[in-house]
Amino acid sequence: MKRESKAILCLLIIAALTILLATGCSSEPCENCGRTPTKIYKHSSGEKYAYCNNCSSECDLCGDDADRHYSVYAGIRFVCEDCYQQLEEYGWVD
Ligand SMILES: [Zn+2]
Ligand SMILES: [Zn+2]
Repeated sequence: MKRESKAILCLLIIAALTILLATGCSSEPCENCGRTPTKIYKHSSGEKYAYCNNCSSECDLCGDDADRHYSVYAGIRFVCEDCYQQLEEYGWVD
């Protein structure tokens, strides 16, 4: 009985870690404000940048809820779907 519950606990810890890794949660400080926790975003250069929820939830251009992001020189910009589509038309996103 005791051994079994230990095994379950182990599985739970592994599951929790997997979820944490899958969602990209990180204790890296935010590129913008230095706060944590952050989420890791992959730059088109292959570099990784961390941003907190606060800095990644608002569209850079119109202030709406951001649900897209794109790479710029030395960072990531967060934009809403509408603005992203406009940027795409101009060819400013990859
Ligand atoms: Zn931030
Ligand atoms: Zn927008």
